[in-house]
Amino acid sequence: FWTETIKHIKGELEEQEFAMWFNIEYLRSTERELIVAVPSSFYRDQVKQRYQSYIENKIRELTGKDLSIQFEVQSKKDPPKTPAAPEKTESLPEQKKPARETKSQKSAKQNHSQLRKDYIFDNYVIGDNNNFASNAAMAIARNPGDAYNPFLIYGGVGLGKTHLMQAIGNYIYENSDQKVIYITAESFTNEFIHAIKEGPSKAAAFKNKYRYADVLLIDDIHFLQKKYETQEELFHTFNALYDAKKQIVFTCDRPLSELKNFSDRLSNRFGKGLNVDLQPPDYETRFAILKMKTEARGVNIPDEVIALVSKNVSSNIRDLESALIKLIAYAELVGKPITVETAQQQLKDVFASPRQTNMSIETIQRVVADYFSLSHNDLKSKKRTQNIVFPRQLSMFIAREITEYSTTEVGQSFGGRDHTTVMHACQKIEERITADPSLESTIQTLIRMIKEYSAKS
Ligand code: ADP
Ligand code: MG
Repeated sequence: FWTETIKHIKGELEEQEFAMWFNIEYLRSTERELIVAVPSSFYRDQVKQRYQSYIENKIRELTGKDLSIQFEVQSKKDPPKTPAAPEKTESLPEQKKPARETKSQKSAKQNHSQLRKDYIFDNYVIGDNNNFASNAAMAIARNPGDAYNPFLIYGGVGLGKTHLMQAIGNYIYENSDQKVIYITAESFTNEFIHAIKEGPSKAAAFKNKYRYADVLLIDDIHFLQKKYETQEELFHTFNALYDAKKQIVFTCDRPLSELKNFSDRLSNRFGKGLNVDLQPPDYETRFAILKMKTEARGVNIPDEVIALVSKNVSSNIRDLESALIKLIAYAELVGKPITVETAQQQLKDVFASPRQTNMSIETIQRVVADYFSLSHNDLKSKKRTQNIVFPRQLSMFIAREITEYSTTEVGQSFGGRDHTTVMHACQKIEERITADPSLESTIQTLIRMIKEYSAKS
């Protein structure tokens, strides 16, 4: 029945996807379990996330058997296992082939869609932080216009919004003749303004270009705040596409409800479909991402080093990648393998930077509130008495100083305040420091206390 099931799955999936993820070997089955072998724990985790329930359902559908799949990791070399620690380096032949190469096999079809060839599902690591979003994205890619429309992916910088959005686009582009258009909200705005200036025929051409897309991907729509005319234009584009059941995907750095100076009717339309957020990746996912990226580049970096970077760079995936690139560049220039010591040395600044710590705003609030004999809820409350306003502004200022969070995110953590409030707070504190330099040392004391508190907890 396994051969039969696999045959069906092969028929349903794209060749490339199948080749990539179905390096699965049947071992044995019992009344209730199916035991299969996969080449590495990384592979196992990915296959589990992506296909476990899909395969189980398929078996049920075909044979009526209700089996739960158990994965056994069996690398060709079969190194000894240390269960808690991340897997020792095992080769993943499928992953070694850079995405670019597989894509170049595609016919010479012109790509007008502006998509990056390497932003595909095959190299998008799935973890708890993006599980829901990636599953939805894959469903949309398989059934554009039908699954969830419109689809909005939101979340902070460097968390994989653009990659995921373009993966949808690339998948549809590769597997159909649909016209996929990817554009950032910023370029859309510029193009629109330009077209209007050029006169009616250019304006009409602009409208047509977008209204005749089969799949429209617009990145970073928070950029459209205050751009009322572009919002109006996009509203009409949206309606035309939506009525024609064309797939529309947006990304945004915050939930729609937090957009300011953004037309209600537009945000209502955008919110009609599915909205999902991307969270920062946890340690395991960071490790898996780095592992995948090193393997894709064909470089050999020991797992201890990957673990070290995963542990120390927790802000987002973009930072994680730049740390890795730095290491690879060093290894290539010096021509010898990276060790934990060299990594520590090379990434000293990255690791030491307070912005890289995963200091929470909550910690800052607790320490500052405690320092001023307030409760940390006071800082998040709406209360506006001076004894609370100043510590609150100070906490916001410190949060901006020592964390990676944007003004929007900081505002969020202070009872859902606007980012302009945070900017205003920072300005106020700077003014006070100028007027009273001793405040600077108070701030330094607080920062030290916050770091101590954070190291202990
Ligand atoms: P955002 O658009 O949210 O700012 P990007 O999509 O540009 O983030 O992602 C930043 C970098 O991190 C890109 O190089 C992207 O390929 C990589 N990346 C993000 N998420 C993942 C993931 N889940 N697996 C692999 N790479 C990822
Ligand atoms: Mg982006």
